[in-house]
Amino acid sequence: MKLTWQRRRLRLRHPWNIARTATSRETVKEVLLVRLEHDGHIGWGECAPSHYYRQSLDSGERMLEAAQSLLGDDPFAMEPILQRLQDRWPGESAAIAAVDEALHDLAGKLLDMPVWRLLGLDRARTPLTSFTIGIDDPATVAAKVREAAEFPILKIKVGTPNDREILNIVRGDAPDKTLRVDANCGWACAGLLEKCRELARYRVELIEQPTPAGDHAALPAVREEGIAPLIADESCIEPRDIPACAAAFDGINIKLSKCGGIRRALQMIHTARSCGLKVMLGCMVETSVGIAAAAQLAPLADYIDLDGHLLLADDPFEGIGGHAGRLTLNDRPGLGVVERGPG
Ligand code: MG
Repeated sequence: MKLTWQRRRLRLRHPWNIARTATSRETVKEVLLVRLEHDGHIGWGECAPSHYYRQSLDSGERMLEAAQSLLGDDPFAMEPILQRLQDRWPGESAAIAAVDEALHDLAGKLLDMPVWRLLGLDRARTPLTSFTIGIDDPATVAAKVREAAEFPILKIKVGTPNDREILNIVRGDAPDKTLRVDANCGWACAGLLEKCRELARYRVELIEQPTPAGDHAALPAVREEGIAPLIADESCIEPRDIPACAAAFDGINIKLSKCGGIRRALQMIHTARSCGLKVMLGCMVETSVGIAAAAQLAPLADYIDLDGHLLLADDPFEGIGGHAGRLTLNDRPGLGVVERGPG
């Protein structure tokens, strides 16, 4: 198998901001698009590294450079290949996910079968995805909510002093939509219960990562009131984090770039289920390659937040759709994505 990759700058539709990055407004996101060639077929994968998890394009490229010699020539030997990468680069989950995705895409193409079918899943069970509204000034949030009119589920990024004003605007403009909130660690344990009681007024479906990772002392009281399910994101990176999360949360948000790909995400889904937890599938800002890889598992999830490609002005791939929140697991082999033609 031959592994190559390219850096790709992706323009965003709107500047992007969340509570953890309150001073930055990203207008461009850079990712690595990974190609794995074997027997006349190309498998695609995507590395969307996160500074929060101490990853970068450089560190991902260093792993990919060294990975070539560890791949071997059997794309179906996924477990040993990925275990070798995991053992040597335990922190490079985003780059490992790219290799995992490319292996799955390749395997599907060699077998002429979509990955969701290879995994034995029923695509009719794919939930609708939420569409995310990032942190912004109230007027821009209002404009974004109007622009997102087609999406029945909105995920609102909170965790700033303007939360109440933002939620008033969103609820005012979207009285009937399902609303999820994600604080990205932005709230303190002190006063959390009062803050969450206030959220009940806005009829939120779930609350994602209210407090910093590991700072869970205030969560049981919120759960006891039954305001809305609490979902762990930054608190839950890999399978071994799940038991601790089961004591404080109602569910976990699994992302391929956080855990290391489709195989590891499957392990997390089953572990979460055996701990009685709900499952959300999430993403980074990434192209349809990374989104399609996560979407292959969507029939196993309660909630999906796979809108990264919809936040881009110029997604270089297509195949997964997303109109009105409906993702398409199509009949093409592998991940089901193809490169868009020029123009
Ligand atoms: Mg989140």
